[in-house]
Amino acid sequence: MSYLDPLTHLEAITILAIIFLLSIKFKFVDVGGVTASFVVGYVIYVFGGRNYFLALIAFYLVSVVFTKIRVRKVREVENKESGIRGWRNVVANGITATIAAIASGLSGEEKIFYAAYLGALSSAFADTLATEIGLLYPKMPRLITSMRKVKPGTPGAVTTLGYLGGLIGMTILALISSTIDRKFTIHEVLAIIYSSGLVGMTVDSLLGATVQAKYRCRICGKKTESPIHCGLRAEQVEGIEYINTHTVNFVATVIGAVTASIVTTFLTTTR
Ligand SMILES: [Zn+2]
Repeated sequence: MSYLDPLTHLEAITILAIIFLLSIKFKFVDVGGVTASFVVGYVIYVFGGRNYFLALIAFYLVSVVFTKIRVRKVREVENKESGIRGWRNVVANGITATIAAIASGLSGEEKIFYAAYLGALSSAFADTLATEIGLLYPKMPRLITSMRKVKPGTPGAVTTLGYLGGLIGMTILALISSTIDRKFTIHEVLAIIYSSGLVGMTVDSLLGATVQAKYRCRICGKKTESPIHCGLRAEQVEGIEYINTHTVNFVATVIGAVTASIVTTFLTTTR
């Protein structure tokens, strides 16, 4: 039970402090983002243990690096211009994995919760890299539902490059988790991570294209996923009012975790 061991807490605080001081120095996250990341990282560290934490930190580092690369190349995409992660983004992507890690710790490391953890992480990882790498695509992306061409950054917009980015994210996670933990065989890890990542990122795009709220700016007329544009409240033109990009991300990680659990149950009963 690592969460009962005071040394684990000390180790978690020390390592997280180093990572987040560096993150602030390199402007990876803002103050809210760093606080939320610290809480998520800490809970995952003490309940899930080192292996859970390593998978998480890989996701964190790879996504901030890709965000920085993309921001340097594509500056005009609104709301994503700064490349700094806020607390809402961290919570939306991290809460499902955090709950899975707590369940794993309290249950005495049940396999199914480790699978759910990997599924939530895979979904968040795939979607983040799909977005960041997809935005580098030189042509117009297409909406996942109607397949018509839309502006880059539109919720639900997909590109082949984005899916390739998602695959890169899933592969990195699979490599790390199969190296650091032997709860599952390499084939099982691949099945869990690829299925949950693909389902999660697709659900993310589908919800983005359908129920996520979209607005039109009353000043410049631009269509946006942000309720405020040009300093004023924009008019909602599509979707459901309270469903924003963070809600969609969160739901996608839940679906990813559920997919991973189902695949694991199937794999372990047919073994
Ligand atoms: Zn505007």
